[in-house]
Amino acid sequence: MLTENLNKDQATILEIVRMSTEDGPGIRTTVFFKGCTLNCAWCHNPESISIKPQLQWVGSRCIGCKTCLSVCKENALTLTETGMQIDRSRCTGCGDCAVECPGTALELMGKIWQLDDLVDEVIKDRAYFETSGGGITISGGEPTMQAGFAGAFLKSLRAKGLHTALDTCGQCSRNALDQTLPYAAMVLFDMKLIDPEAHKKFTGHDNKRILDNLLYVADYIRSHVYPSGMWVRTPIIPNATADSENISGIGQFIASYLDGVVQRWELCAFNNLCQDKYQRLDQPWAFADESLLTKSFLDELTDTAKQSGVDPDIVFATGATRLETPENMQKPETQEKQETQQEVGDGVSSERI
Ligand code: SF4
Ligand code: SF4
Repeated sequence: MLTENLNKDQATILEIVRMSTEDGPGIRTTVFFKGCTLNCAWCHNPESISIKPQLQWVGSRCIGCKTCLSVCKENALTLTETGMQIDRSRCTGCGDCAVECPGTALELMGKIWQLDDLVDEVIKDRAYFETSGGGITISGGEPTMQAGFAGAFLKSLRAKGLHTALDTCGQCSRNALDQTLPYAAMVLFDMKLIDPEAHKKFTGHDNKRILDNLLYVADYIRSHVYPSGMWVRTPIIPNATADSENISGIGQFIASYLDGVVQRWELCAFNNLCQDKYQRLDQPWAFADESLLTKSFLDELTDTAKQSGVDPDIVFATGATRLETPENMQKPETQEKQETQQEVGDGVSSERI
């Protein structure tokens, strides 16, 4: 059983990203909540999975002064020739070392925000929202893990006349959806894998609850003015989600059960920009050796999506693909680490895939 934090007054927020153009319509400010109910093997924001604040060390900024070692009461830090070792079993996430670090090499990921402070922070961008038809998106991690705050935050923004979007992976309780849906102008819903076993293999859970919740959200949208619609987003991950059977299966589900509700189905191309994040967290990344997709392969999957039974006009591909040259065209997708890339689509993605 999933239980959420229903505290309405404060939440642990990972990051606030301004000027996003792919987390809903217009120019948006996206608030990334910390903590996730899934554990996707390809996760591009590994620092968002744990709800606890986590320390990271950026070696290029460290001046070797060792101030942090004397500040830490838990003796959790050791500066070695190969870099800073953080004993995460000792680190409490107090952040004292980050505050005192003169090089800003230590950063605490995750900050407690009070409701009013966060509202005041995001409405600074109001002029951009009004001129672009944008607004505020809550994402993560999984924002419904902190459903009490997420709902109160969306409600405050709605009361100020701002457009709001809830970005969810769907692995949450009905109660969490009921706390947030009434105050979301739209929903961004992830559909990663249609096969339950594959879903469990790559995310830690099968997709039963997610698909049940997806149907619940669709019915809610049909019977309410607010939210007004949904975007479905599918991360296109080599050797995981990026196959025609999966894309076709997701498309058939959308066509069969979500007709009239889904305004956009986005295929979000895999990127490998998060390797540093894993290194800073001392975590391995199973997709570290995967290349970007080729544009022709992404085009193929996009065609599959358009032919799956959905309205072809709702299908879009976003993200970077690798430039195709005569040399790399001859090599399989997974064997080449390609540095050259090109953007597909028209926006700046900050999605939690
Ligand atoms: S306080 Fe900062 S700059 Fe100094 S050793 Fe520690 S991490 Fe490096
Ligand atoms: S966050 Fe606190 S406990 Fe963790 S290393 Fe820094 S000072 Fe020590």
